[in-house]
Amino acid sequence: MSRNNDLKPETLAAQALHFLDGETGAVVPPLHPSTTFARDADYAPRGASTYARYGGPAVDQVEALLARLEGAEAALVFASGLAASAAVIMALKPGDRIVCHAHIYWGFREWLEDFCPRFGLELRLIDMTETAQLDDALAGGAALVWTETPSNPLWEVIDIAAIAEKAHKAGARLAVDSTAATPVLQRPLELGADIVMHSATKYLNGHSDVLAGALAVKRTDEFWQRIRFNRTGVGAMLGAFEAWLLLRGLRTLYLRVRHASATALHLASRLQRHPKVLQVLYPGLPDHPGHEIACRQMEGGFGGMLSLRVAGGLAGGLSVVKTTRVFVPATSLGGVESLIEHRKTIEGEASILPDDLLRLSVGIEHPEDLLADLQQALDQLALKEGTAAE
Ligand SMILES: *Cc1c(COP(=O)(O)O)cnc(C)c1O
Repeated sequence: MSRNNDLKPETLAAQALHFLDGETGAVVPPLHPSTTFARDADYAPRGASTYARYGGPAVDQVEALLARLEGAEAALVFASGLAASAAVIMALKPGDRIVCHAHIYWGFREWLEDFCPRFGLELRLIDMTETAQLDDALAGGAALVWTETPSNPLWEVIDIAAIAEKAHKAGARLAVDSTAATPVLQRPLELGADIVMHSATKYLNGHSDVLAGALAVKRTDEFWQRIRFNRTGVGAMLGAFEAWLLLRGLRTLYLRVRHASATALHLASRLQRHPKVLQVLYPGLPDHPGHEIACRQMEGGFGGMLSLRVAGGLAGGLSVVKTTRVFVPATSLGGVESLIEHRKTIEGEASILPDDLLRLSVGIEHPEDLLADLQQALDQLALKEGTAAE
């Protein structure tokens, strides 16, 4: 372990914390599907594990690695990203105020809007890119500030250091959903956040075959103990097989994320010039309103996620998702395969998003295959529009 302290995160991830089985020499950690663990002759637990709802060998290993990657004192894994997010909210008390960026992952916002009033929590949804709105919401104090950056699916950039300062002055903890950035590109705890959350379903696992969530914290204080206690109490623990797969996925995290980021930047710059693209939303573009902040708080890239607004409104957007051949028309993000989705169809009528918005999750395929695919789909849109006009 002391040896690990000198190693860079890339090395720790690639070697799963320099795992080596003392007995067999195996370089891959074993999978223990066991839900229960026998006691010794003195009736004391033989190892760190007792029962799977409290944790197990794979869970312990993946948590130790995630804590190192985020520069955290500790990390916890959950059955999904939303289970991890909900665990933070459930550690609050009735009467507490939550100040939350309005343009966050819609599934979490929807749950907050239902849950908070029923449990006596005051929810203030604001636009955190507007300082005045934040100051107003924090006046009189708050218990938690929740934000997401870059935020899904508009890829707005929130200034973590600036928000942390204001949150702390108001007596609040700052939690950041860093799913789109990953610890490869952004380390919220080092920027002043108290809690970082990931949908590990996305980049951390990276292969679209595990549903998982994670939290990492700067301090294992009493609030953290409550989150941990609640995870056990409601049974939101990650399964052993999922934890094992997540550890395996994390081994290639740095390669995958850097490659996807480079490709996304290439696609964003090229698509900006396509006549059927009205707007490209990507923090890596110099004309993006959050570009300057992103340059300050992200390192080594701007992520593999971007959105496009295309010509032709709803019909235009739907035409493109039906005509790509390499991009798969599916929801989710952060896998090795590129995905495209018409976000408003997924979110439904209540969605605040424009009809013509397409969300792209860039994978690790050859960049030219991805570019050519989008270009042919957009060119077909031009042809269709031409026909409709005649
Ligand atoms: C997918 C996602 C979530 C929810 O995570 P699940 O693992 O699906 O529960 C939360 N935040 C962001 C940014 C996401 O993309």
